[in-house]
Amino acid sequence: MMIKAPRGTADILPQDSFIWRYMEKTASDTAKLFGFEEIRTPVFEHTELFQRGVGDTTDVVQKEMYTFFDKGDRSITLRPEGTASAARAYLEHKMYALPQPVKLFYNCTCYRYEKPQAGRLREFHQFGAEVFGSTDPVVDAELIALAATIFKNLGIRGLSLRINSIGCPTCRKKYNDALTAYLTAHKDTLCDTCNTRLLKNPMRILDCKSPICKEVASGAPYVLDYICEDCSTHFEAVKKYLERNDIPFSVDPTIVRGLDYYTKTVFEFVSNEIGAQGTVCGGGRYDGLIQELGGDMIPGMGFATGLERILLVMRAQNLLPETESVPQLFIASIGQTADAISLAQKLRENGVFAMCDLAGRSLKAQMKNADRLKAKYSLVLGEDEIKSGMAQLKNMESGEKKDININDIAGLIACVQ
Ligand code: ATP
Ligand code: MG
Repeated sequence: MMIKAPRGTADILPQDSFIWRYMEKTASDTAKLFGFEEIRTPVFEHTELFQRGVGDTTDVVQKEMYTFFDKGDRSITLRPEGTASAARAYLEHKMYALPQPVKLFYNCTCYRYEKPQAGRLREFHQFGAEVFGSTDPVVDAELIALAATIFKNLGIRGLSLRINSIGCPTCRKKYNDALTAYLTAHKDTLCDTCNTRLLKNPMRILDCKSPICKEVASGAPYVLDYICEDCSTHFEAVKKYLERNDIPFSVDPTIVRGLDYYTKTVFEFVSNEIGAQGTVCGGGRYDGLIQELGGDMIPGMGFATGLERILLVMRAQNLLPETESVPQLFIASIGQTADAISLAQKLRENGVFAMCDLAGRSLKAQMKNADRLKAKYSLVLGEDEIKSGMAQLKNMESGEKKDININDIAGLIACVQ
């Protein structure tokens, strides 16, 4: 039997990979304009990092992690998201000793054991950005602006930005009492997982995917109605900065986000063009995360956007670039393979996209291949050409031919630009 890729994974084939490179480059280049620097962390971490950093009452930790014991009997988990790893690295490498805030971005694969469907895979790709070391609401606004600018630079229109504040541990306490009272009245209808969450972390019930829990959640009190003065002032400032930046948003008091470590600002960019998995980007402030991981009380804020979903939006909006770049020159040869590859090599060393035959094809078949590759120019090397050093450069589109000196590399390069 033929072996297939595991369920929930997808190969990115050559006809698509340049689109991925384009998305990653656009996001990374935009982040650099905002002063973010790239971080790369391991694909796997100690399981405890996510139990503590994502939170052990979350769907991600309770249901979705790829966890296994390695040969040394350590519990290892494939990263389900990037923030916990970035925070671990920040602590481990004492980045708190650098001028604050520290602004990091990453492109990474993530792993979650979920039911695969459009826009939901088991291995997926995130672009994320994190800012550590400042509670200032201007950080929240800058991160949201970064996400908005990335989408704009990709040409994406019509995403709706929804923001909310879920308060700090102080105001959350008052809210949790009200929420618990409400949820306890519906205890018998909640799923088993949510019943265990009721005492430990009632807010997690608000983003449970079970339809019955969702129904219960829709009648729950809003945390936004319970936030303290400090959180409220912070939220007002974020909104003011967004308005100043002409970034349209709406306040959506139902957003709580799926990870335990969020405080104050949370936000999502949502598309209505890609079906049920419409959340393209999610993020928020996590002032308690670094402390949860054993550090000092160092605030942070970040977001992650799913590239699979961005791709769906770009496809829906007809934004996908058509093709990768095409060869500038195809060097056909009649028995002169060594000369052909040596000419190709010299051109490539000078940045020219040059191809030649690698399968001993007939001249006719080589020219057909040059056509298929959409090469801009071609030339044929036969015995005469090698002897005289002169060949005919053919413009594949117009059919126009021009004599060129094959030993004059600079001249040849100028002709194929
Ligand atoms: P959802 O509600 O769709 O499950 P989430 O709240 O679990 O999303 P986050 O943990 O905030 O998602 O991840 C940030 C982004 O990563 C999401 O907005 C989405 O674009 C993307 N994402 C999350 N899970 C997946 C997945 N299984 N497959 C593809 N993309 C995903
Ligand atoms: Mg999820």
